Amino acid sequence: MAAVSCPNYLFCGNETPNESIEKMCVDCEIIFGRWSGGRGKADIKDNIECPICLQTKMGITQPKCEHYVCLDCFRRCQYGDQSYDIGNKPAFPYDKRIEKMYFDSLENPNLEIEEIEELKKTWESEYNLLKMYNKKYNEWEDKQFEHALNEENLMTCSVCRQ
Ligand SMILES: [Zn+2]
Ligand SMILES: [Zn+2]
Ligand SMILES: [Zn+2]
Repeated sequence: MAAVSCPNYLFCGNETPNESIEKMCVDCEIIFGRWSGGRGKADIKDNIECPICLQTKMGITQPKCEHYVCLDCFRRCQYGDQSYDIGNKPAFPYDKRIEKMYFDSLENPNLEIEEIEELKKTWESEYNLLKMYNKKYNEWEDKQFEHALNEENLMTCSVCRQ
């Protein structure tokens, strides 16, 4: 399948399949997509004063208005708190090889949700530590979701509130 650079490549660094809507990558589709009132392609400009961190840096337009913020603040606001997410992630209790086998088997796109749950149970019966791991992992995902919800205000423009 032919891939082209996302129109926001400077920001997201993603390639995208040629036939996707507006040819944006999935990340940009969520942030800038017109279906959610976004602008589509973002404008990127050097030497703007960021209204959040007050530094003069490379900036990007907010999804729904003409105001610029710096790329770092934009990422932090739109992609969430990566250090929080990664810092609290539970460690997989077995070696890398088993970790890869485990996640590859679960990420099979042909599986229904119930089948994935069944598969997890099969794994858990063979690898005992997975039970505790899956419990911790679910708790981590819930906390992450809650953390993101508390930060929803960061996704609006700090200047005009759009
Ligand atoms: Zn993109
Ligand atoms: Zn900034
Ligand atoms: Zn604005």
